[in-house]
Amino acid sequence: MSPLALADAGTAALLLNLQALGLRLEDSDVGVTGRRGGAGPSDHKAVNLAGRTVMIPIATASACESPFVASRPDQHGISVIRRDGIEVSRIEFPRQPRFYQLQTADGIPYSQIATLHSSDVLATTLLQSCIRYGNRKTSCQFCAIGQSLAAGKTILRKTPEQLAEVAKAAVELDGVKHMVMTTGTPNLTDRGAAILCESAQAVKAVVDLPIQGQCEPPDDDVWFERMKASGIDSLGMHLEAVTPEVRARIMPGKAGVPLERYMDAFEAAVKVFGRGQVSTYILAGLGDTVEAILAMSEQLIGKGVYPFVVPFVPITGTPLEKYPAPAPAFMAQILPPLGAMLKQANLLSQDMKAGCAKCGACSALASYEV
Ligand code: SF4
Repeated sequence: MSPLALADAGTAALLLNLQALGLRLEDSDVGVTGRRGGAGPSDHKAVNLAGRTVMIPIATASACESPFVASRPDQHGISVIRRDGIEVSRIEFPRQPRFYQLQTADGIPYSQIATLHSSDVLATTLLQSCIRYGNRKTSCQFCAIGQSLAAGKTILRKTPEQLAEVAKAAVELDGVKHMVMTTGTPNLTDRGAAILCESAQAVKAVVDLPIQGQCEPPDDDVWFERMKASGIDSLGMHLEAVTPEVRARIMPGKAGVPLERYMDAFEAAVKVFGRGQVSTYILAGLGDTVEAILAMSEQLIGKGVYPFVVPFVPITGTPLEKYPAPAPAFMAQILPPLGAMLKQANLLSQDMKAGCAKCGACSALASYEV
């Protein structure tokens, strides 16, 4: 479904508020199982709002305080969202995808290999660990990559064969349209590019599914060619925070990869994947100012890189679980001007072949590109 379906200003503003403040549920057992403890932003649940599937924080500390409450769904699966007792919108919780009912020959449920994000994205974390995660002095403070592994909801390493099997089933049974492959960082050389290559190659051998790979900038730009040749269509290299002090505080290990390296890597990657097929995730609310995020975004757009700005969601069990989510007013200073910049540059989420920016479910940004 096109992100542009949510083009009306009132609904875009409601989404911005819901993603910043979260949503309380009267009945927490409804819908597709939420994302808890993955790499990057998590603790979301997919909901259909105004013709678009979006991810809303549900199981977070701040969501428990949210003024928005969703009622138990009626017999048609429709739930009413109220604020201070007054109805503000209606949502629907998507059903569990069909491929979740399957398992591999050796008994691993498909849902432990890849999950459905939004309505049509298959997402997987190839390696559910990271060289930095075990040590709080180096780990990214927002990251919960080990939590779903510890909870037995996923497996440590998804093999190329398993990924191919699940991707084929998800396309055939649930009509997924693109795939996101992210990974914990396994080493300080290729930084995950090698396992992205072998995984993408295996998936593309069995199903024609656009793939976004996500990793840190590898040590050698030759990996961009290799990833492209393996079947990766779009690439995400995620800054998360944009000012050196915030990077050092929030992601002390990853901040060892300097911003200059990211910028060089973006340029090299755009040459290989094309303008608008390289993106970065920026988590708003970790300490970067509005001006810093917009200035970085402008620089990135100038390089042909899509800055996917997402409100930070504090995940239960991480060092930042009590850190406040950004206020809606903060997001409202960033997303509309950023959307206008993207439109002006004709660098649009809908033109991405695959990935988070194309999906757009974790941010209201795409609603402001129109
Ligand atoms: S934007 Fe990315 S992380 Fe969010 S639901 Fe879509 S694919 Fe998943």
